[in-house]
Amino acid sequence: MPDVPIARRFAAGSTTSEIIELPMVMSGSGALMRPGPVLDPVKKTLPRAVALVRRIVPWASVTLAPRLYTKPYWTAVTHERITTDPLDIVTHDDREWESCGGLANPGFNAVYLSMYSGPLSILSTAAHECWHMLEDRLAPWMVDLVDFHVDAEAASSYWDTEYHSRPEEIRARAFEVWCGRIFAGMPAPIYARAESEPETLDEIFGMAWSGQLAQELEAEQKVAA
Ligand SMILES: [Zn+2]
Repeated sequence: MPDVPIARRFAAGSTTSEIIELPMVMSGSGALMRPGPVLDPVKKTLPRAVALVRRIVPWASVTLAPRLYTKPYWTAVTHERITTDPLDIVTHDDREWESCGGLANPGFNAVYLSMYSGPLSILSTAAHECWHMLEDRLAPWMVDLVDFHVDAEAASSYWDTEYHSRPEEIRARAFEVWCGRIFAGMPAPIYARAESEPETLDEIFGMAWSGQLAQELEAEQKVAA
């Protein structure tokens, strides 16, 4: 398992509440609600979730927390023991915090995952947050290409909230669902980068899944530096 120092800190077993607050520079919280049973079963997929983030967005740190709360522009992680409703709201420092399963913070190059999620949902949350991170560095034409292939009206018709109907949420869910077929045991479509640019969702998402997209982005950045 890759190094996850913050997770170790929170796995120490203390019952003392410890909340770290980080200012969020992205707009909106990027949170996706993921209620689910805790805990022991999650342990077996945690290393896979972390490895997935490391591969898809190698520049991002991964923070795992038994509980994860969000307010727009803020993130809190805590090792409080889990005793309450998964969709609870806690008050701390006069703020109301909603619990959530994962967060992406491109400004801090950080992905947060709640260990409150179930073993599968921590994986799909990781994939979802990875897309948010990746998209922050993608060329606009590539983002447009995803928009072109994903039927936003159909995608948002299953969700009732303005938050879930945002284009960036629709794209992140599309990648999450695409990865879901791999989590269900289906083979990942292999896309070998040709001379031409990617044109289909399978090509773009396949490049993201394999880490190829991240490698290309990092190579471009080195050239630019
Ligand atoms: Zn999201």
